[in-house]
Amino acid sequence: MAATYDAIVVGGGHNGLVAAAYLARSGARTIVLEGRHKTGGAATTEAPWPDAPDFKVTRLSYVMSLMPPTIINDLELARHGYQIYPMGPYYQAFPEGGSIKLYADDAKRNFEEVAKWSRKDAEVMPKWDAWLEGLAEVLGPLLTTVPPNLGSRKPRELTDTLRLAWRHRGLDVRTIADVTRLMTMSIADLLDDWFESPQVKGALAVNGVIGTWAGPYEPGTAYVMAHHSIGDVGDGHLGNWGFQEGGMGGVSAAIEAAARGFGAEIRTHAKVGRLLITDGRASGVVLDSGEELHAKVIVSTLHPKIAFLEHVGAENLPPDFVTDIERWKTRSGVVKINLALGELPDFTADPGTGLGEHHTGSVEMAPTMEYIGRAFQDAREGRPAARPFSDGVIPTAFDKSLVPEGYHIMSLFTQWVPKDWNEAPHTEELEAYADRMIDCYNEVAPNFKSSILHRDIVGPHEMEQEYGLIGGNIFHGELSLEQLFHMRPAPGYADYRTPVRGLYYGSSATHAGGGVCGIPGWQAARAAITDRKAARRSGRSTVRKITRRS
Ligand SMILES: Cc1cc2nc3c(=O)[nH]c(=O)nc-3n(C[C@H](O)[C@H](O)[C@H](O)COP(=O)(O)OP(=O)(O)OC[C@H]3O[C@@H](n4cnc5c(N)ncnc54)[C@H](O)[C@@H]3O)c2cc1C
Repeated sequence: MAATYDAIVVGGGHNGLVAAAYLARSGARTIVLEGRHKTGGAATTEAPWPDAPDFKVTRLSYVMSLMPPTIINDLELARHGYQIYPMGPYYQAFPEGGSIKLYADDAKRNFEEVAKWSRKDAEVMPKWDAWLEGLAEVLGPLLTTVPPNLGSRKPRELTDTLRLAWRHRGLDVRTIADVTRLMTMSIADLLDDWFESPQVKGALAVNGVIGTWAGPYEPGTAYVMAHHSIGDVGDGHLGNWGFQEGGMGGVSAAIEAAARGFGAEIRTHAKVGRLLITDGRASGVVLDSGEELHAKVIVSTLHPKIAFLEHVGAENLPPDFVTDIERWKTRSGVVKINLALGELPDFTADPGTGLGEHHTGSVEMAPTMEYIGRAFQDAREGRPAARPFSDGVIPTAFDKSLVPEGYHIMSLFTQWVPKDWNEAPHTEELEAYADRMIDCYNEVAPNFKSSILHRDIVGPHEMEQEYGLIGGNIFHGELSLEQLFHMRPAPGYADYRTPVRGLYYGSSATHAGGGVCGIPGWQAARAAITDRKAARRSGRSTVRKITRRS
């Protein structure tokens, strides 16, 4: 007899765990099926060096900012070990000498730091911060808004659209213009409008290209910057990021503990092969082992190409939806390099291997916008970047649980390699790429290379094969304009429901996704819980029809 649950969650990444926690909290008998040996997905802490098991790295994602307080409080994550250390300043040491630090919460010191490079930019900086804050007031609440089905003529969906418009009735012409600029401009053009110093522009451009198959000169990258600048870590400072104690696996562990606390069952080594669909309705899953599990509610949190094209199958989906998912853009060219260090980097511009403030935030290798642009151009032309850009962090500046006493971990989020490197391991080329990345840091911190004890390189192929991140894209799909809001993951299905009755979708490929924010899992669970209640009330098993897009 196949086991029967009220709800099955496919994928035990952080979104799957959030969905399971909410479903179990609502009283649904819930199970999470995770294919790997552990939960967490891209929010994972692992020990990649068998000969140094005491060194742990936050192997893929590395910093928190975007999870809303609602989820943190509802799931009582602090009680389950969720603890964030706010990061120190953004830091860049320049190959030609000197450095810059930018603080999330200290306008006076920002003025001094920026004035080292341009007094005009130092004077502009508070206005830029205020401008971003104004936009965050508009964009922030949209993150937790269920996108309306724009273009639909159904009365209920028209009402959703009108309600959203009404909520924004206070916006004036200038704010709409600013949002339009943000959504359409390149980060390079936007920063050129505000600043003059290459050093300052380099510093501010980084958030515009994180995880993106686009250089700073590509339209749409201004929005990517905004996406990374509208969260906070609960300390009230917009755009601030923080380190979870125990690495990002600690976030997943806290959510998992909450889910278990509400009664959810969590199974690892349980790879789902396909969904059972009967008369257009999801009724269960089949594991690769052949085992079947049944439920009236299925929430998938996998990459859309796996969730729909493999697990549901084109024959069970409307053709235009299949085309949309087939065309889903999921490139990235990201390589994560995790290092175990014998000592902290000793920067020529800020000497010393003792813990300094400049070690506590992001330790960047993105000296100018041109540098970042060149790295993308290399990859676009089919070569790994000669001088890659890196968003580096040293979580052990705060978190001593990851390493033996006296040692450090440094995590380098780097870009770009060619977009098709997901298709083969490219092991030797990745080693050479990592050597070049390390050389770039060594130019500004001459002890860097010799301080490295172990290194772990995760390229797009491993991200795809081991973690299910198709194309190596870190967000289950690019944050490009045509894949945002009502278009994420496909027009007509941005409300966390799918063309298949009983199947809900809560991966990072939905609205707000991209990042360890839990919103997709939360919204998918809410949609399922709402429909379950409605079905119970009406005595029917469903409230949705397959042809709802028109
Ligand atoms: C290198 C890198 C750096 C990043 N840095 C950050 C960062 O610093 N901060 C941030 O906020 N975000 C960051 N991100 C993005 C963020 O980590 C992801 O958007 C997010 O973790 C995705 O969560 P998810 O639950 O939607 O999916 P996933 O984490 O991908 O979870 C999906 C789960 O499903 C499992 N699975 C796959 N196939 C099957 C199957 N057939 N059956 C059962 N289970 C299956 C997978 O093993 C995985 O556990 C980063 C991502 C990467 C890759």
